[in-house]
Amino acid sequence: MTTTHEAHPLRFVGVDIPSKADLQNCIHCGFCLPSCPTYIATGQELESPRGRLHLISAVVDGRIEATERVLGHLDLCLQCRACETACPSSVPYGRIMEDARASIMANAPAAQPPAWRGRALFLREVLARPSRLRVALAFGRLYTRSGLQALVRGPLGATIREMLPPALVRLESSAPVLDRAPFRETGTLAAPSAGGSSTRVALLLGCLQGEMYPGVHEATVRVLQHVGCEVVSPEGQGCCGALHSHAGDVETARALARRNIAAFERAGVEAVIVNAAGCGAAMKEYGHLLRHDAHWAERAQRFSEGVRDVLEFVASRDFASGLGKVERTVTLQDACHLAHAQRIREAPRAILGAIPGLRLVEMRTPDRCCGSAGLYSVVQPAMSATILEAKMADIASTGAETICTSNPGCTIQIEAGVRRAGLDAEVCHVIEVLDEAIRAGR
Ligand code: SF4
Ligand code: SF4
Repeated sequence: MTTTHEAHPLRFVGVDIPSKADLQNCIHCGFCLPSCPTYIATGQELESPRGRLHLISAVVDGRIEATERVLGHLDLCLQCRACETACPSSVPYGRIMEDARASIMANAPAAQPPAWRGRALFLREVLARPSRLRVALAFGRLYTRSGLQALVRGPLGATIREMLPPALVRLESSAPVLDRAPFRETGTLAAPSAGGSSTRVALLLGCLQGEMYPGVHEATVRVLQHVGCEVVSPEGQGCCGALHSHAGDVETARALARRNIAAFERAGVEAVIVNAAGCGAAMKEYGHLLRHDAHWAERAQRFSEGVRDVLEFVASRDFASGLGKVERTVTLQDACHLAHAQRIREAPRAILGAIPGLRLVEMRTPDRCCGSAGLYSVVQPAMSATILEAKMADIASTGAETICTSNPGCTIQIEAGVRRAGLDAEVCHVIEVLDEAIRAGR
């Protein structure tokens, strides 16, 4: 069947068309191929970074049109940016892919690929709107607290699972356990130290972290206090817009960025602390996101320079004094947007390595994507499951009882992997383990 989209192939339009200078950096060496999860899974050049760059160049040059097939290759990309780390020619692949997606979504709404339009609509109308997101998550909380989730997942739920469509069963098995009250506090979260020499920092609450994993914010505040910080959480902040940028909805991402910049500027802090790697990476790139906006470009750049991932920030301070024992075998999953986008690999290892009693066992490929990638596990379930399966085999080989991450998307995905693989392991943020060591040392 020929779709409308095939009959009217798209072109890149608007101000975000990928830059030829960026694309010309690629020398086609192929060094990025072995690090690309979709190339590893398929062995197909067009599912590799080099293949996708060829396609994007050809669309930019007008040699081909953005047919459904071309867009399918772009859409299978996780935007994990492992190819950037591997690239000897510094090709800014993440920026090129975001620009390509934005240039497709800059076409008239009726011409946009329906799946892309639907994804952007969900991200804009639910994820970016706290009141709607809270209603959606309230159903999730009810599902957990009513005991229905445990029933469906337990031995007695086998009959229910058999009656449901496989796609729904897979989606259900990815849902997190929402058994805690959300963390939505604003104002002063940790008071300045009595001596008055504390560093004043602001915490990003984000859209999902505080709703799904409130313990990560609680631990972050305690750890920041331990390293001598006054912590505030400004009113008016919101979703960082990372997933909107990844999905090509840059106008929503830009509106969210402006709102956050204004809110955090009002807080008058020395650093904006982020404990979700994907959000931190996006906020460090607000300068690029708002580069076309004469009123905001400079402010955005200045703001980005003050953003710090919590692990990067804590590792740069005196965090190791007075730590108690945490006797546990731990493995670390490098979040893609920490290791590849922010180039932070040493900080989580320095923190875990300083905890007495903790044994860190590295996976074979700790910086390979787990298949989460925002909405990827929902829109590309088969590839996401393939990638997660490989990740869980790597994790299982370490024998770890604790799997540390630094991004809520990774936590959701790996928790689902733990359940499906039947592993006896917990998943948590690195900062929660450090918090445990701080409390054990008191
Ligand atoms: S971003 Fe990740 S999935 Fe996409 S091409 Fe690069 S390595 Fe492959
Ligand atoms: S490693 Fe870099 S230069 Fe080489 S093919 Fe990949 S993107 Fe191009």
